[in-house]
Amino acid sequence: MYKDTLLFINGTWREGRDGKSENVLNPANGQVLGTVANASHSDLDDAIASAQAGFQVWRKTSGEDRAAILHKTAALIAERSNEIATLMTLEQGKPLAEAKGEMERVVETFTYNAEAATKIAGQNYDPPGGAFRQSVRPEPLGVTVGLTAWNFPAILPARKLGPALAAGCSMILKASEETPRTAAELVQALHDAGLPPGVVNLVFGTPSEVSSTLLAADPVRKVSFTGSVPVGKLLAGLAAPGLKRLTLELGGHAPAIVCEDADIEAATAALTGFKFRNAGQVCIAPSRFYVHERHYDAFVDAFVSAANSQTIGDGMDPATSFGPMANERRVEAMEQLTEDARAKGAKVLTGGKRHGNQGYFWEPTVLTDVPDDARVMNEEPFGPIAPIARFSELDEVIPKANGLPFGLAAYAFAGSSDTVSYLADHLEAGGVAINAVTPMRADTPFGGMKDSGIGYEGGMEAIESYMHKKLVSTGL
Ligand code: NAD
Repeated sequence: MYKDTLLFINGTWREGRDGKSENVLNPANGQVLGTVANASHSDLDDAIASAQAGFQVWRKTSGEDRAAILHKTAALIAERSNEIATLMTLEQGKPLAEAKGEMERVVETFTYNAEAATKIAGQNYDPPGGAFRQSVRPEPLGVTVGLTAWNFPAILPARKLGPALAAGCSMILKASEETPRTAAELVQALHDAGLPPGVVNLVFGTPSEVSSTLLAADPVRKVSFTGSVPVGKLLAGLAAPGLKRLTLELGGHAPAIVCEDADIEAATAALTGFKFRNAGQVCIAPSRFYVHERHYDAFVDAFVSAANSQTIGDGMDPATSFGPMANERRVEAMEQLTEDARAKGAKVLTGGKRHGNQGYFWEPTVLTDVPDDARVMNEEPFGPIAPIARFSELDEVIPKANGLPFGLAAYAFAGSSDTVSYLADHLEAGGVAINAVTPMRADTPFGGMKDSGIGYEGGMEAIESYMHKKLVSTGL
């Protein structure tokens, strides 16, 4: 059922002009699933021309007509979601149930953006004096570029395509070469729903070549990227000469604070569940645990037992709760972070090694006595490693929680309403969840602070980021 993925340019699937392609691997066993075509420079030029033509059609389409196509897309994706989830698990590794959950969020995202497309409205002003009238008209920016990573092969593209199309922009999407089929299925659904040719184009290739070509192109007015901080900074540099608008959803290193008055059972259930989802490859996953000394031993025991009770295996096996990492690079990163922590005095209570002899499996890992200068306390682990530290005073731990250059997500568990509001006030993160591990939603804006990003995805804020507000003044 796994097909090779081609480029989608001007409403047609095609090979790259140079005939280049690369293999797509199944992370559960390292075997080749198929190939993905790579775009040459001239394919990218075609994609830009196609997106320019597509924009001229789409910008004139009414909000209701854009909504109808996005609703139809949501319906087609809902019909095909089991099949797409299976392709996702094959190429990315996550357990099939998680892939199905991701598909539900994709349907919600297209549905939300369909509804929102009908609500984009300008405003009229009648300045005093009566000499002129003013109106503010939201207009789509033009050709946009979406660049997405491999950890959520469906929802990351959906969070770019949905608002861009609702706004009336065209988009050239470069999804991850490691998980191309899932993105291709979303694009196919848009096409089948009646999206005019050129409005969405899908390309793959050498990421640095694709992004430098697309971001240098005059017609491209905006880029939205989800991925690592270093690549986000590189793209900001590429966007600067042409002053392209930017949305950057980058990495984080989310602190999770368990306070003295927390409900420890609720805290451990929520945090262990979230930590090991998608083998820890979630930008908002809790990744540094600070636990009050009163609960420390119980929390560590619960974490070790949650780690040991994972059923590790191929995500296609319904019994699997914990799949492989998406690629060999992540396993190597886990090895390096664990070794560094161990060398600096950390204890590895469970895990800390590869699992099995095929695919990219890393065991769920719990570390204690990790010094603050260990790499895992400072660099985004993006994997299933839980470093747990103890604290006695909340005032000591807030500066540590806020002390990194990241500011994406932060979690805390606390009992009294005073502590809850103190935490909400003092944690520096794009999203703070207290007594909860709130997921990103289609209808609410979410974005990082500091190195974790620029701008928002979700909600009307995402759609507005694809629009210019034109001020029109008319003399009377
Ligand atoms: P990476 O930094 O090489 O790449 C991250 C993503 O950016 C990939 O999808 C890649 O294809 C893309 N990319 C790389 N260079 C690019 C370029 N010049 N232009 C355009 N796109 C480019 O690292 P990686 O090994 O793929 O991922 C590891 C790190 O990425 C993790 O440690 C994590 O911090 C981060 N990451 C974050 C998210 C997120 O949701 N914010 C998602 C995936 C990865």
